[in-house]
Amino acid sequence: MLRNELGLSTLAAWGGEQQPHGYGAAQVPIVQSAPFAYPDVASWRAVIDGDAKGDIYSRNTNPTVAVFEEKCRLMEGGESAIAFASGMAAISNTLFAVLRAGDHVVSIKDAYGATSRIFMELLEPMGVTVTLVSTDDADALEAAVRAGCRLVYVETPTNPTLKVIDLHRMAAAARSVGALLMVDNTFASPINTRPIALGADLVVHSATKFLGGHDDAIGGVLVGRRDLVDTVYRYREITGAALAPFAAYLLLRGMKTLALRVERQNATALAVAQHLERDPRVAAVFYPGLASHPSHHVAAKQMSGFGGVLSFEMVGGEAAAIRLLDALKLVHRAASLGSVNTLAGLPGMTSHVEVTPQDRAALGIPEALIRYSCGIEDATDLIDDLDRALASLD
Ligand code: PLP
Repeated sequence: MLRNELGLSTLAAWGGEQQPHGYGAAQVPIVQSAPFAYPDVASWRAVIDGDAKGDIYSRNTNPTVAVFEEKCRLMEGGESAIAFASGMAAISNTLFAVLRAGDHVVSIKDAYGATSRIFMELLEPMGVTVTLVSTDDADALEAAVRAGCRLVYVETPTNPTLKVIDLHRMAAAARSVGALLMVDNTFASPINTRPIALGADLVVHSATKFLGGHDDAIGGVLVGRRDLVDTVYRYREITGAALAPFAAYLLLRGMKTLALRVERQNATALAVAQHLERDPRVAAVFYPGLASHPSHHVAAKQMSGFGGVLSFEMVGGEAAAIRLLDALKLVHRAASLGSVNTLAGLPGMTSHVEVTPQDRAALGIPEALIRYSCGIEDATDLIDDLDRALASLD
């Protein structure tokens, strides 16, 4: 068992990986089996009764998935972790398992679109009331929490304008009314923000993004207080949104380079953001590493790096944004983020596809905004690509 005092790069490589694995394998084997077989009924029964270690059925536990869970647990510094088939499965299972009719939730208006829809379309009809507060107004958010609630749900940095929530402040407010603080740490990754150390009870990820980092697997994970994770585990055991062993293997393989990738992506995003901020064809750049960003002060205090994602608004409206996107050569025009390859898209086609243009405007998301998720390419090549594409608009 590796100790938490090890650095995050070491945990990325070694965390959760007992040596040697089965068959003496140096790397985590993909245990691609639905059930687990026993030589006799007594040894099977011992595992069911918890008297011996083992697995029964991969909807419940699986050795490859268990290594992924343990690596995530160590990197986030939590008591326990469980993996899910997707980030949305992690978020929805946790909310459904923890909340009860009559509970009140406080969250932000800028949460990922599908998460906001869980609050409004699924939880409210079940008797859970939800207040969504403007993400820009930290005082209003704190006041809503202090007015009383069962759960505070935040995402930081937010999608797509990268607002950063002061987690230390939120945790204090949540604690003062006996509420839980749940944080979606997808955009930051544990390399840039460790919410549990700042007072969060639960941390979720779309592991599809930075954790996996290669755009080849969908997955999610919940890390946090053991009693809460146990409750969510029982819910997932029944409802079945377990992570598949092959996806767990891909995510684990990706996670080994998490620290290296994120450090590069942090540096590249800052360089790209600073470069674009000087370009007259760009109306505004949103990146918490820029002194001009409204969250810069909180980000500088809370984050070890400012993240690999930025967004920028084009002069010339949505048409100019589309022309720029089409002119870029070193991007995938695609809906995800956090990959080794740079990805770019319009919020109206990605994170906020289900939101009307009016509601996007109310959220401060211009139609001419491009979300740009830096990969691990040479920053100079990305900047050259952007310059060439910008010049083609003249
Ligand atoms: N949380 C955030 C911040 C996201 O950006 C996403 C997806 O883009 C999700 C959750 C959902 O994750 P998944 O697509 O793995 O279900």
